[in-house]
Amino acid sequence: MDCDVFADIELDAILTGGTSISWTLDGNFVEQNPGPYTFCAYWARSGSDEWTPVSTVPIINGCFIVDPTQHNWGKEPDVYYKVRVTLPDGSYFISPPVKPEACMDKHTWLLARDIIRKEYLNLRKNTGTQGWLLKRRNWGQKCTRCIDQDTEEIQAGHCPVCFGTGIVGGYYPAIEYYVQADFQPRRRARNPQTNFTVAPDKAGRRAVAYPYVVTNDLWVEDCTDKRFVIQTIHEISAMKGVPLIVSLELRLAPVSDIIYQVPLEGAPSSSSSSSSEHSSSGSSEQPEECLTGGLDEIEDW
Ligand SMILES: [Zn+2]
Repeated sequence: MDCDVFADIELDAILTGGTSISWTLDGNFVEQNPGPYTFCAYWARSGSDEWTPVSTVPIINGCFIVDPTQHNWGKEPDVYYKVRVTLPDGSYFISPPVKPEACMDKHTWLLARDIIRKEYLNLRKNTGTQGWLLKRRNWGQKCTRCIDQDTEEIQAGHCPVCFGTGIVGGYYPAIEYYVQADFQPRRRARNPQTNFTVAPDKAGRRAVAYPYVVTNDLWVEDCTDKRFVIQTIHEISAMKGVPLIVSLELRLAPVSDIIYQVPLEGAPSSSSSSSSEHSSSGSSEQPEECLTGGLDEIEDW
């Protein structure tokens, strides 16, 4: 009976092991039931009704959680997940159970993980530039400041409430994310054959495919605060359908763009000598607003 509260539940195999469980609440439900929303995900073996919480830390207004445990390898997955959302008045709704489509065998997973690890370390130590990934909110409380109540269209892009996304807050807290440095000459190169100019900032830049990046997420260069919109994502390498390395086409936003006002919550200030406050240990005083699972511990793999 609670099925239409959730518009979608998605399960993805992830390369640190385990499964990412992401969800989208139904737009009408969100409109009628303002948050904050507290989420909890559970897993169970098929045929069993013993549901175990994926994490004891509830997710406030988040959009996904990572189950770090690999419950089975290389056979038909027999694990199910479901998500519970609790409203401020204590009432709650549970999604129907969903099952992963496939799982990697352990050999493939170890290979894939090693590819990601090497790529990430190379980006961090040699070829990359430090930055912050701001994942765009695709559901949540609608912005009443700039959305036309009748047509539901965003009326002005320059809105400090939703930053032009139509959803209050606009983006999730920042996650540390390296992309290949821009080694191309600053001057625009002219291709003699087509006579078109190629803007350097539009060229593809390598990055690891974790956390998942989608079109219209933002990437902020740490040392310059230059802000880029992710235009397209091309898969450079994948294993068994799981992308490992991607090439991102980034569009540099003009400094007048409202996205320069999006706060870098979660990002340690560049003057801070340590990035430990960004770790996903959950010891932070702030509520864990999803998007744990950066690559902080990758060197320990
Ligand atoms: Zn707005």
